Amino acid sequence: MRVLRDRPQRRSRSTQRLAPGRMPKYILLIGGPGAGKGTQAQVLREKLGLPQVASGDLFRDNLKRETPLGRQAKQYMDRGELVPDDVTVAMIRERLRQPDAARGAVLDGFPRTIPQAQALDALLAEFGGRVDVVLYVQVDEAVLLERLAGRWVCRGPQQHTYHMLFNPPRVPGVCDIDGTALYQRDDDTAEVQARRIRVFFEQTSPLIDFYRQRGDLVEINGEQPISAVAADLLAAVEGMTAV
Ligand SMILES: [Zn+2]
Repeated sequence: MRVLRDRPQRRSRSTQRLAPGRMPKYILLIGGPGAGKGTQAQVLREKLGLPQVASGDLFRDNLKRETPLGRQAKQYMDRGELVPDDVTVAMIRERLRQPDAARGAVLDGFPRTIPQAQALDALLAEFGGRVDVVLYVQVDEAVLLERLAGRWVCRGPQQHTYHMLFNPPRVPGVCDIDGTALYQRDDDTAEVQARRIRVFFEQTSPLIDFYRQRGDLVEINGEQPISAVAADLLAAVEGMTAV
């Protein structure tokens, strides 16, 4: 079985690797900053009952609770070093052991590199599983930038947010609710966002190729309305279980 899986193959309706009626257990969700992954992970959680296991959330949670793994990660971060993959893998392992992940999980944020993908394979094998499907929410670089760089916040105490394209204020530069001036957070400037987006594509394209080669990748058009993206994601997952 394992040998066959490593053979490059294209996904098609006739090559379902899951037994009929068996739900995919581990789903990997990949999408750039602003691709709407958080929203879509929530849809998958509601429809499939699988929790979202996002590496960023695990980090924040372990740091906040000052767990042994959180303290370990912090030592590296304090030195300005990258947290080694085995620390991240250990956090994911611990999370997957929780009862709510017994039926599987939607993984997000890890892996970002091929060595990390291999580490994830080894980890999921411990749970008797594998990455059953990789859902790539595809959004063009320019569209991501448009989505992210259009965010403005008011200077009022409630920090109302606007988007120049999707939710503009009635008067340019002024909050509709409290009349204070709008500004962009440093993180929201076009330059910072453009860099984030570029790093994502540079990092992720080898990973996308890796999963495509294995026949695990399903590409979803992330430029559609949210509900259409959700429908495509669910159809991709349900298509796997069809006979
Ligand atoms: Zn306001």
